[in-house]
Amino acid sequence: MKFDSLIIGGGVAGLSCAIRCAEAGLKTAVIAAGQSALHFSSGSIDVLSRLPNGEPVYQPFAQFDKLKAQSPNHPYSKLGETKVREALAWYQEMIQARGVLLSSQPDDANHLRLTPIGTFRSTWLSQQTVHQFPLTNTAGQLGHIALVTIDGFRDFQPQLAADNLAKLSPFKEVKITTAAVELPDFYTMQRNPCEFRSIDISRVLRDETKLHAFAKSLIQSVGKADLVVLPAVFGNGDGAATIKLLEGLTGFTICELPTMPPSLLGIRLEEAMKSHYKTLGGLILAGDEVQGGDFEDGELKCIYTRNHRDMPLVADHFVIATGSFFSRGLAAHRLNIEEPVFGLDTVAIPDRDHWYQPQFFAQQAHPFLKMGVDCNSHLQASVNNQTVGNLFCAGALLAHYDPVFEGCGSGVAISTGYHIAEQMIANANLTGQTESEPETEQQRRQEQQERTMA
Ligand SMILES: Cc1cc2nc3c(=O)[nH]c(=O)nc-3n(C[C@H](O)[C@H](O)[C@H](O)COP(=O)(O)OP(=O)(O)OC[C@H]3O[C@@H](n4cnc5c(N)ncnc54)[C@H](O)[C@@H]3O)c2cc1C
Repeated sequence: MKFDSLIIGGGVAGLSCAIRCAEAGLKTAVIAAGQSALHFSSGSIDVLSRLPNGEPVYQPFAQFDKLKAQSPNHPYSKLGETKVREALAWYQEMIQARGVLLSSQPDDANHLRLTPIGTFRSTWLSQQTVHQFPLTNTAGQLGHIALVTIDGFRDFQPQLAADNLAKLSPFKEVKITTAAVELPDFYTMQRNPCEFRSIDISRVLRDETKLHAFAKSLIQSVGKADLVVLPAVFGNGDGAATIKLLEGLTGFTICELPTMPPSLLGIRLEEAMKSHYKTLGGLILAGDEVQGGDFEDGELKCIYTRNHRDMPLVADHFVIATGSFFSRGLAAHRLNIEEPVFGLDTVAIPDRDHWYQPQFFAQQAHPFLKMGVDCNSHLQASVNNQTVGNLFCAGALLAHYDPVFEGCGSGVAISTGYHIAEQMIANANLTGQTESEPETEQQRRQEQQERTMA
């Protein structure tokens, strides 16, 4: 089967790349082995919260020169500010068209989002249902915050969050209360505690009668508050609409907090991206895994998957966006790390004792997070120091940056995915390969076969 672009990995990096390719008319397929980090994510887009030397960042883009000086091989240093901005602007517009509004502070600054344990994380873009606390004057005009959970829900403990929040100096004068609201159907759901997760609650609250009953209990439990904070238990894709409805029913200003996985805020981004990609005619081979490929004359010719071992998938360009250790895009052995699909060149720290900090919750970064696949300035990968001209790398498997310490995970994933797509589109335009209306009966049959596979 022949494609213009084949993308390995269905996380935010792979999907951003695939959508941009499909928008430009490239015949594109994504192979995604499993769930991406989005199922565990806050659904906010971190761009740059801290420089590698630990200096906190107020306005991410204003710090790109300093970042380049400290980390010349950082993916942002390879792309430059203009390309990163362009990618994020494209992403905001694309995802807004699918009903998810991502916004930043008017002065381009980072903001703080509240975590489920009552601490704050700095980020750049948040969804419309997340309250953006400014970096300075963080509590703003808030006089009373109510942290509310669903009775029996284990993945958000408002008392813990309230205790931690109250310790922060900007919240010393703010009244912080907690409540637990009973869910209609609570007793039926309690029979099996494993079925009382955010996604199960969202199914109940999709029923308008039950949402009305929930709203009534919420008013009774909270009384009055300037901001009501609920765990993210509303809908996949339609969560924002459900919250708007609940605000109308209660008169409260309501915001959501990401919970333990499954994180509906992250899943909301994934659903929006996947449905947009499919609308553009893109193909996703979900649950399949790329296991290797054939190289010839410095290029990757085809790849093989677990489900299609004897049917090579051929493309002009390939992208590997298989994530970090967490998604098995990288594998750690006793003394080295490995990119397991193609054995790509990696950057690693030789002595395992220096891979991590002795304290898990250390103030400094864990060095292993900067290990990963090494690429040139075009984000092309190499094997045994030989560049593979048509194999690009995007997202969390890249070396030279730390998504956790620097707070730049999704920003890097989106901008590298987008930038690679732009290069593939430019190459396809040069060789006159764009667009793919089936021309012959054989091509039509092949396309039909591909859709059946998906
Ligand atoms: C728990 C957690 C929470 C995070 N929260 C945030 C956050 O709130 N905000 C933020 O900005 N960043 C966050 N990050 C940072 C995160 O690294 C990036 O945001 C981003 O999600 C990385 O995307 P990715 O597409 O590169 O990789 P991933 O999301 O890891 O996706 C990789 C995909 O590749 C697939 N795959 C792997 N191997 C193969 C194979 N051989 N064949 C086919 N498919 C394969 C995997 O199954 C997966 O679908 C978080 C990271 C983690 C781990």
